[in-house]
Amino acid sequence: MTMTSVQTPLLEVEGLSTTFKAGGLSIPAVCDVGFKLSKGEVLGLVGESGSGKSVTLRSILGLTGRYGSTTGKVMWRGDNLVELPEARLRRIRGGEIAMIFQEPMTSLNPLLTVGLQIDETLKAHTGMSASERRKRATEMLDLVGIPAASSRLNEYPHQFSGGMRQRVMIAIALAARPKLLLADEPTTALDVTIQAQILDLILSLAKDFDMGVILVTHDLGVVAQTCDQVAVMYAGRIVEEGTVRSVLKTPQHPYTVGLMRSVPQDVPPRTPLYSISGTPPSLLALPEGCAFAPRCPNRTKECEATRPELLPTGNGRALACFNKVEKRDGAAA
Ligand code: ADP
Ligand code: MG
Repeated sequence: MTMTSVQTPLLEVEGLSTTFKAGGLSIPAVCDVGFKLSKGEVLGLVGESGSGKSVTLRSILGLTGRYGSTTGKVMWRGDNLVELPEARLRRIRGGEIAMIFQEPMTSLNPLLTVGLQIDETLKAHTGMSASERRKRATEMLDLVGIPAASSRLNEYPHQFSGGMRQRVMIAIALAARPKLLLADEPTTALDVTIQAQILDLILSLAKDFDMGVILVTHDLGVVAQTCDQVAVMYAGRIVEEGTVRSVLKTPQHPYTVGLMRSVPQDVPPRTPLYSISGTPPSLLALPEGCAFAPRCPNRTKECEATRPELLPTGNGRALACFNKVEKRDGAAA
């Protein structure tokens, strides 16, 4: 997990951009995003709501809909997924690359039993026989901690509680043993205890299957507990990235520092949460310079005039900022 630089990356994203056309407008939801992910590695994508995290995941799998248009490179086992025909992408989705969505009820089919939904995935993506598939389906429910797995295969999604449904989603997603899992805020709808259990589950399965994971979350606390690498997104771009250990220890982008301050850490109950002042910019009227400048305590004239590029700063880190935070000034204290 730590020797990422010597491995060939599992996934290599470069210059990924997605624009939505709507009513004569052009919305640049994701701009020039790039990162690498190795086998067994967990990358956290963080940022406030609307920063482009979900669109980044959807762009990887060509799921941006008829109004979305994606350019750039998503290199996966020798192919650029951005240019792959839909028929081939469909074979990869749910097979080699699985995705877990935030809202389980919208991606589970209410009319099919859980067992049949796992079976469909296995039929589509493996050459297993009916009896092997049945065995695997039971195994998967068991693996995700659903008691009495074999009998629950015959139940429908609505017969499961929220946490159990999320486990069902994971069971379906991982049934065909994907090599990459894209998890979009997989635990946001759940209470804290179950959230922790589900995250632990995803991570232990990732280890068992040597699977790469991209975990989207708006919660840096979750990143600290679960990820190896982190990429911080703002207004559709990555503004800071590196190993979790390094970035969270010495965040350099004022936005990352702001996000970290909004994570409650050892604070007495009912302490008001710090939140970054101001609101994210409209993607239809992005400032000329740095998109974060209007909210940034470190901004200068340069920031308002020129957009800083994401540049390497050593130690495998990269930063898009002209006036980095030199030292953490007692954040979240
Ligand atoms: P988040 O970081 O919260 O996951 P998203 O990736 O969902 O953010 O969205 C990024 C931006 O793209 C938002 O401004 C959102 O409104 C816009 N967007 C997402 N999907 C569409 C779409 N289908 N059509 C137009 N705009 C979209
Ligand atoms: Mg989202």
